[in-house]
Amino acid sequence: MRIARFSIDGTVGFGVLEAAPSEGEEPVLDIIRGHPFAEFERSGRRVPLSKVRLLPPVLPSKVVAIGRNYTEHARELGNEVPDVPVTFFKPSTSVIGQGDDIVYPRISSDVHHEAELAVVIGRLCRDVPRERAREVILGYTCANDVTARDVQRREGQWARAKGFDTSCPLGPWIETDLDPSDLAIMCTVNGEQRQLGRTGEMVRSVEDLIVHITESMTLLPQDVILTGTPAGVGPLHVGDRVAVTIEGIGTLTNKVVKRD
Ligand code: MG
Repeated sequence: MRIARFSIDGTVGFGVLEAAPSEGEEPVLDIIRGHPFAEFERSGRRVPLSKVRLLPPVLPSKVVAIGRNYTEHARELGNEVPDVPVTFFKPSTSVIGQGDDIVYPRISSDVHHEAELAVVIGRLCRDVPRERAREVILGYTCANDVTARDVQRREGQWARAKGFDTSCPLGPWIETDLDPSDLAIMCTVNGEQRQLGRTGEMVRSVEDLIVHITESMTLLPQDVILTGTPAGVGPLHVGDRVAVTIEGIGTLTNKVVKRD
């Protein structure tokens, strides 16, 4: 099931994406009564996908991100895969959705794309054992861990480099029925392929990361885990259109704009 968060005529809601009712028509959203982090019902009220504005699929209390979780990517930046996962936060204010603009920050002249599988947490959890890790997941979406690489190199902590406004595109929706263990993940810039990998190359699996993170902190419904990026990261420029595609989920597209 694909669950999207959207606005239409000033109202915000969640809907389940359905295929076009008939040939020549477009996909529709069946509006949810309640919200997807508890038991919910489909209302049967449908709106065409093209009539809504897609919003970030969740409003997380925190985005917990993992660095250097693909060996080839760690090496391309001159690093090795660390013994313990590198963990950092992206703030809620960095989150944007499908079609929203990535605003190039004034603090940087070397902003990079990082295509990542995002895990959306479905229930409050702490100290999750590995065999129960899948139970706390609502689903998966595409993410771009947009990074000011020059700031990251200059500063010991990555809060500014990876936490600036608009640095966390998420979307276009949450796919709930998916095995995350070996999905193709790709990033294009202006239609040109930059990153291509498989989630099966991750050093630490989704389950391992949930165990590791919840050893130290409680995860809440709507929280998001970014699982690291495959090799091929590179610069973004004002005017670029960057797209992250993950097999079984879809494509998250954003444009890079100059800050006024
Ligand atoms: Mg990253």
